[in-house]
Amino acid sequence: MLKPQKLEKVLIANRGEIALRILRACKEMGIKTVAVYSTADKELMHLGLADETVCIGPAPANLSYLHIPAIIAAAEVTGATAIHPGYGFLAENADFAEQVEKSGFAFIGPKADTIRLMGDKVSAKHAMITAGVPTVPGSDGPLPEDEETALRIGREVGYPVIIKAAGGGGGRGMRVVHREEDLIEAAKQTREEAGAWFSNPMVYLEKYLTNPRHVEVQVISDGQGNAIHLGDRDCSLQRRHQKVLEEAPAPGIDETARAEVLARCVKACVDINYRGAGTFEFLYENGRFYFIEMNTRVQVEHPVSEMVTGIDILKEMLSIAAGNKLSFTQADVNIHGHSLECRINAEDPATFMPSPGMVKHFHAPGGNGVRVDSHLYSGYKVPSNYDSLIGKLITWGSTRDEAMARMRNALDEIVVDGIKTNIPLHRDLVNDEGFCKGGVNIHYLEHKLANQ
Ligand code: ADP
Repeated sequence: MLKPQKLEKVLIANRGEIALRILRACKEMGIKTVAVYSTADKELMHLGLADETVCIGPAPANLSYLHIPAIIAAAEVTGATAIHPGYGFLAENADFAEQVEKSGFAFIGPKADTIRLMGDKVSAKHAMITAGVPTVPGSDGPLPEDEETALRIGREVGYPVIIKAAGGGGGRGMRVVHREEDLIEAAKQTREEAGAWFSNPMVYLEKYLTNPRHVEVQVISDGQGNAIHLGDRDCSLQRRHQKVLEEAPAPGIDETARAEVLARCVKACVDINYRGAGTFEFLYENGRFYFIEMNTRVQVEHPVSEMVTGIDILKEMLSIAAGNKLSFTQADVNIHGHSLECRINAEDPATFMPSPGMVKHFHAPGGNGVRVDSHLYSGYKVPSNYDSLIGKLITWGSTRDEAMARMRNALDEIVVDGIKTNIPLHRDLVNDEGFCKGGVNIHYLEHKLANQ
């Protein structure tokens, strides 16, 4: 299906399961690969499968995976033609995308200007309003420092409200305000945090939705006027704003609202001339969608969309970066069945403290409709320096119940010995009555954990 034009050699500027996922897609397409790694990551699985490997620095990410000159130099010495950033690290760093392209490599993602536009949540929201995508009601642009104006905006929007950092990410830089008398102090604190964490003190205000679900839309666009969606995903099971278990499609969504939001997202991609894979994130409450942010990269949970559409998002990203048009149209996209993804983390299932160390034994589950995206192997030592995600367990079924039954089996079969993981939490979740019914809200998991 993909056109013959392709990238020659891709440098994978990431680690762990996503580095392996990118490598597999490259190999399928006959593209050579360069794996980069830090000194803490010499044992990563994909290093043994890559055509070339380059050590880019010591364990701390700011000296290796976030060190732009080291990555560009690795691309230069190996003769790579393109760089895939994966997710996290430099994936949404507009300066990196710009330097990659200025150095003569293809950046496998959107143009730097698009990353910049969407990375600032205030400008992103503005662009979405212009494109007709529904957003959470709130301040028109940044929340002014002038106290009277800020209080007036709070009153107009109505309490509770949430103050959010324009440059925020990873669930940080947000503060819920229930009473008018707390607004000014909360805005001040969030500004200070935002300045320290994201080097951008700008904050904005929006209505705090008390009972929403997190539903997001996967899009792919070629930057040549063609855009499609791959349906939606529900990522409401979260802890501290971090996703734990995702599924596609989102269960029990109003079909008219769904059709409308999917069409708007596609139109927004065309409007901003989006290039690559991306995700529009929404809160969904009382049958309505409210845009919160766009992620301009591949997401951890992309496999559930691949499972229900049969489309390989990574391969399509590589094809688009080579300058090809989308290899299919919206009419070719059929949502078939249901898919679930459990994020497996190296962490204590009760305290959520990271649990790095030696994996004495790893056994991957299998069977019809089971997919394991993981860089684990028996004898692999999970380093303490990075994110605790060690793999993703994905199932597909012709119905949600079948996908769920297969996930229960897979969670029974999987063995990760030597370190603590959150597998017990997932075993509990796939038997949870509320979750099994479908459509729980973003507070469900935290309430459940608090009541245990
Ligand atoms: P980040 O970029 O840090 O992930 P988001 O804007 O995507 O920030 O928000 C992360 C999470 O915070 C959402 O999934 C939701 O749980 C909560 N949240 C954000 N905005 C609101 C809002 N207006 N009302 C209620 N919850 C919100």
